[in-house]
Amino acid sequence: MRTLVTGGAGFLGSHLCDRLIKDGHDVICMDNYFTGRKANVLHLIDNPHFELVRHDVTEPFMFEVDQIFNLACPASPPHYQHNPIKTTKTSVLGAMHCLGLAKRIGARVFQASTSEVYGDPEIHPQTESYKGSVNPIGIRACYDEGKRVAETLFFDYHRQHGVEIRVARIFNTYGPRMLPDDGRVVSNFIVQALRGEDLTIYGDGSQTRSFCYMDDLLEGFIRLMNHDEITGPVNLGNPGEFTMLELADRILQKVGGKSKLAFHPLPGDDPKQRCPDISLAMKEFGWQPKISLDEGLDSTIGYFRKLLAES
Ligand code: NAD
Ligand code: UDP
Repeated sequence: MRTLVTGGAGFLGSHLCDRLIKDGHDVICMDNYFTGRKANVLHLIDNPHFELVRHDVTEPFMFEVDQIFNLACPASPPHYQHNPIKTTKTSVLGAMHCLGLAKRIGARVFQASTSEVYGDPEIHPQTESYKGSVNPIGIRACYDEGKRVAETLFFDYHRQHGVEIRVARIFNTYGPRMLPDDGRVVSNFIVQALRGEDLTIYGDGSQTRSFCYMDDLLEGFIRLMNHDEITGPVNLGNPGEFTMLELADRILQKVGGKSKLAFHPLPGDDPKQRCPDISLAMKEFGWQPKISLDEGLDSTIGYFRKLLAES
């Protein structure tokens, strides 16, 4: 099996490359290094089953592969809002180029979609049938609407051209290889706690998120991609739900030190609650997360502790 991973030098993409190599694939990792790093895949460089290509998904590309995983897109709000027009182009043109290639060579193609397609949800937990509540002109729209159009393209290529698609709606996932300046809440709180800085709570900290450890998520990716029929969209996430205050408290207990909480204004359109209904993934391919927040945080804290000590 030859497999292309776009965004393969990023947090999730690099772990996916590891997993695919372990499963016996020949992997082409494509990235423009916007939020990814060569360091994430450096250990694979000498592996004869691995190739690294610097390329931007907004430009067309051609590889002879059996499968495509499309992960290229900055995922953290500060990074995707840094150049919002580019973020929309990355989602939309990236999807078009992956789908065009899949159509031409008959490859199966996976889209890393997101719980952001639900926007600030009015139903709880979120099921795949929920159509979402997204502000199309807000500061998160470049990402949310970009990912929504990408889903539209995936389903139209499937209906119009018979392309084999697999669409995963990913809820907040964390773990080693997130950037220390990634900007998402788990890495922010851990890095701040390890540096003895105050933890930045946006708003009053009562908003909720559901945090999935990356190993669990990757197992979901592989099961969905290898499923004979199901196209998705399928929610992949951990249904455990925590407020940001609870998360901060948990991390402070683990790291110790003198950090306190520092309250900052809530960014625009920040969703109030998030929790996946994962019954579809459980029913279709027997998937559910196994790693608790405590275990996942311990492993991620260990990673950042070592990284900060080395830098
Ligand atoms: P990440 O920012 O670490 O990885 C994204 C990768 O894509 C990076 O390596 C980046 O350099 C690359 N990239 C960005 N723009 C590109 C472009 N134009 N051309 C080529 N490469 C480009 O983020 P991540 O958390 O690993 O997310 C991976 C994918 O999963 C993204 O598509 C994201 O939207 C999706 N996702 C992640 C989460 C999560 O919680 N981690 C949740 C929902 C969806
Ligand atoms: N958040 C926070 N402090 C931070 C970073 C984020 O309180 O330093 C909040 C953010 O406002 C949001 C939640 O944590 O309500 C999750 O943010 P993240 O950027 O991780 O993901 P997303 O909002 O895309 O789910």
